[in-house]
Amino acid sequence: MAISLIGLSPRGDAGVRFFSNSWEWHALVEYFLGHESFLLNEKINLHFLSSGTELSEVECWKFLDVFAKNFDYGSELVELPQELSDYITLTSNFLSNLPDMECQSCLGSGHQRKGIISPLYFEPRVACRECDGSGKSRPYICNYELSRLTSLNFLNFLKFCGGCVVE
Ligand SMILES: [Zn+2]
Repeated sequence: MAISLIGLSPRGDAGVRFFSNSWEWHALVEYFLGHESFLLNEKINLHFLSSGTELSEVECWKFLDVFAKNFDYGSELVELPQELSDYITLTSNFLSNLPDMECQSCLGSGHQRKGIISPLYFEPRVACRECDGSGKSRPYICNYELSRLTSLNFLNFLKFCGGCVVE
């Protein structure tokens, strides 16, 4: 599930809206939960934020403080906090070092399948759309790679949204 947060009282463009695909949001939440030193809000399950859930400005700043200690409220962040930057590098290296796996779509054949039981292939055989015919694909978990830009946009959104609501 993608996440879309709308600023309740934005100060500047950075606080108007934050959007992330579900993969990156999951990685951000995992980072947050690994560093959480307080309970943000008993009602909020960060993995499954539901539509209409609101975070006050103070809650957003508490949230932000986990990512960026001693941040300056007045100006936009232009660089990621070192610890978050290191986390992104660490996960990126971990994911990029994973070996390719047998493609789950074509079961390694490289050909697009049309049925459940082999060898029901399309005739004439066409290359698998998932792996372009190689029979190999990146592990599913590689979708969880977190970009620096999304992370920075998230931190600046928290800083300038004036509280937010899940769309
Ligand atoms: Zn394939």
